Amino acid sequence: MSTGILLSVVIPFYNEREVLPECLKRVAAVLAGLDGKTEILFVDDGSRDGGGDFLLTQHLSGIDLRLIRLSRNFGKEAAMTAGIEHARGDALVILDADLQDPPELMPDMIARWRQGCDVVLMKRRSRAGESAFKRLSAHVFYRLLKRACGFHVPEDVGDFRLLSRKAVDSLKSLGESNRYMKGLFAWVGLPVAVILYDRAPRHAGCSKWNYLSLMRLAWDGVTSFTTLPLRLSMLAGVVAALLGSLFGAWIVGKAIVFGDPVQGYPSLMAIITFLGGVQLMALGIVGEYVGKTYMESKRRPVYVIDFQTRTCDGEVWGQ
Ligand code: UDP
Ligand code: MG
Repeated sequence: MSTGILLSVVIPFYNEREVLPECLKRVAAVLAGLDGKTEILFVDDGSRDGGGDFLLTQHLSGIDLRLIRLSRNFGKEAAMTAGIEHARGDALVILDADLQDPPELMPDMIARWRQGCDVVLMKRRSRAGESAFKRLSAHVFYRLLKRACGFHVPEDVGDFRLLSRKAVDSLKSLGESNRYMKGLFAWVGLPVAVILYDRAPRHAGCSKWNYLSLMRLAWDGVTSFTTLPLRLSMLAGVVAALLGSLFGAWIVGKAIVFGDPVQGYPSLMAIITFLGGVQLMALGIVGEYVGKTYMESKRRPVYVIDFQTRTCDGEVWGQ
């Protein structure tokens, strides 16, 4: 079903005032070359550097420029969810504001969508401007996630992608409030095309992610999509119990055969601390899942919108 708008470009941003003018210029230039109505939907994820105010002063001819301002910083996953839920296009492209994802690739993505693909993934050929450690950790994480989940989470693919209306509507039907988007995208399935591209360094500003937040996102990804850690903790328990029984049998055997007196204290301490560690770790993992269930049970919205505006050809709609 056509919505009358060919393409929505969803751009979540947080404190990107420096790059927004260039971002808007480059995206608008690409959209101007497409035939059909288009919109750019900026989601201001609670920026405090005036980026949203800058966008309020802008208007484009022939392209709907929309701004959704969230009430505070909810994180990129929530900002993307807001964009996906409000976009009206038959196809939707998610783009980072920092121009690491070149908007000039959008015509290629649309061509693949027109050939019948519901999802066009942009796979990174290189990761210029990122440290070797970040590259390695991302590499390992994608491979681990692929093994842990029952379905295929594509490797080296970020949020830069095109989604058809069908894919967008399927995503919208997923009700969980913990939004690990890469996993949700993969869960939906549908025919996929892959385009290789070179990820550019940031145009300006600095990355909002640090290793701690990346690790949190990675852990979130794993615990949202698989109960493998629970099974692994059970496995650790079984192995520890098995080792304990073997050790016990060995001590008893030694006492019977050689009449060795049992030397207690050091081995006892080692075993108690080992078992205590395994138990606490397993409890922590169970706690993680209980906590997730608790958060989901609150059924809080993923984001709160402060206001929305739309401008086109000098006309302004505010809500
Ligand atoms: N972003 C966001 N909310 C946040 C953090 C980041 O909307 O809380 C946006 C950010 O402005 C950018 C995109 O998400 O448009 C990607 O962020 P960043 O460039 O910091 O991540 P990286 O490219 O280093 O993975
Ligand atoms: Mg970036």
